[in-house]
Amino acid sequence: MKKIEYKTYKKPTDFARFEQGNTTIHIVSSGGLVKKHGMRTGRGYIPMGDCTETPDCKQCLQGNVPKQKWMWIAYIKDTKEVKILDVGAMLGDAICKIAQEKNKDPQEFDIIVSKVGEGLRTKYTAEIGEIKSLTEQEIVQIKNAKQFLIKKYFTDSQSSQKPLAKAIEGEVINNDEVEKGIEEMEKNK
Ligand SMILES: [Zn+2]
Repeated sequence: MKKIEYKTYKKPTDFARFEQGNTTIHIVSSGGLVKKHGMRTGRGYIPMGDCTETPDCKQCLQGNVPKQKWMWIAYIKDTKEVKILDVGAMLGDAICKIAQEKNKDPQEFDIIVSKVGEGLRTKYTAEIGEIKSLTEQEIVQIKNAKQFLIKKYFTDSQSSQKPLAKAIEGEVINNDEVEKGIEEMEKNK
């Protein structure tokens, strides 16, 4: 249990939520791509689950177009918390481009995420921070929180989600298995 500090209170969430300005993060998993359904309303966004990416997806059949999402598990250095980084093209693609340019896995460097604006006008940018691995102490701190998130969000029985779960778990499997999983997903489309 944690004492509630009202001055700094924010509704708890397992997902990374960025403040205005810069936040330093360090990715601690492999990355995954997933298609998600949802609906924009006047008040915000209502999530409606992952697209099964199969012909019988209920949301797709109703004409709801899924949105591409990029996912990682990230250590938020500023708050020392482990969160799911579930982002759209602006930030997801920026992170991938950095990794590609530097020819490094994002787990090898810090990323500085910058958020400007609110709501639909929010702009995210990412730039590379310090190039160094996490310390032993940080790794120990992250381990349990990371396992908790994997268990809660990435071990769904829906077959289409398994490759993502495996991709996110990263260290327990090799890339061949992910490739195989993705191939199966493609076949099932
Ligand atoms: Zn769908």
